[in-house]
Amino acid sequence: MSKTEKRLRQRIVELCREMNANGLNQGTSGNISARHGDHMLITPSATAYDAMTPDMIASMRVDRDAFEWDGPLKPSTEWRFHRDILRHRPDANAVVHAHPTFATTLAIARKPIPACHYMIAAFGGNDVRCSDFAVYGTPELSATALEALEGRTACLLANHGTIALGESLDKAMWRAVELETIAKQYFYSLQLEGGPVILSDADIAATARGFGSYGLQEKAMAD
Ligand code: 13P
Ligand code: ZN
Repeated sequence: MSKTEKRLRQRIVELCREMNANGLNQGTSGNISARHGDHMLITPSATAYDAMTPDMIASMRVDRDAFEWDGPLKPSTEWRFHRDILRHRPDANAVVHAHPTFATTLAIARKPIPACHYMIAAFGGNDVRCSDFAVYGTPELSATALEALEGRTACLLANHGTIALGESLDKAMWRAVELETIAKQYFYSLQLEGGPVILSDADIAATARGFGSYGLQEKAMAD
């Protein structure tokens, strides 16, 4: 196994634990994948993050349709949307799926997140869309998620949770955390009389111009 693959497997396990520790996830919900050449490395299904070790991470071809994998445990039930995102989004090398409380509350109410804070620009546009509902693990969920992600690096999944993409695992996790933060802020602003004031497209475009040089600067781990 290459050093890069070892490093990716190790980082996936660390980020899974981080996800539960920082409250982004509960129990065994959520899953993480990373591109490794023409394969993806993906968390096993229904496995406690505390008990997860790097050798339990499954490896699947991104370019094949068959449900085939290398590894001792079945890959996440959401392998389809992870594979389809990595297949159709060359800008993404990692995918983080979670069920965080505030973003999921908005997804239950089918409320996309508008430009309520300048950080919306971190997700590629002036909003974060909400997909249609589809049962977990289905091709339909993958299709509606890809649509909601068009031109964006995150989306809400109706009555389910969130997806965040990154050029690297750390960048995807950074976005997942930022998404829950803006969801919380938007949720609270909706409780106030008058509700949130939404920023203009020009405000977001100006913010986005500065964003290219903001954030984590590590190399994309695509090899
Ligand atoms: P897995 O344990 O199969 O990854 O499923 C968790 C989940 O969040 C399904 O949407
Ligand atoms: Zn889920």
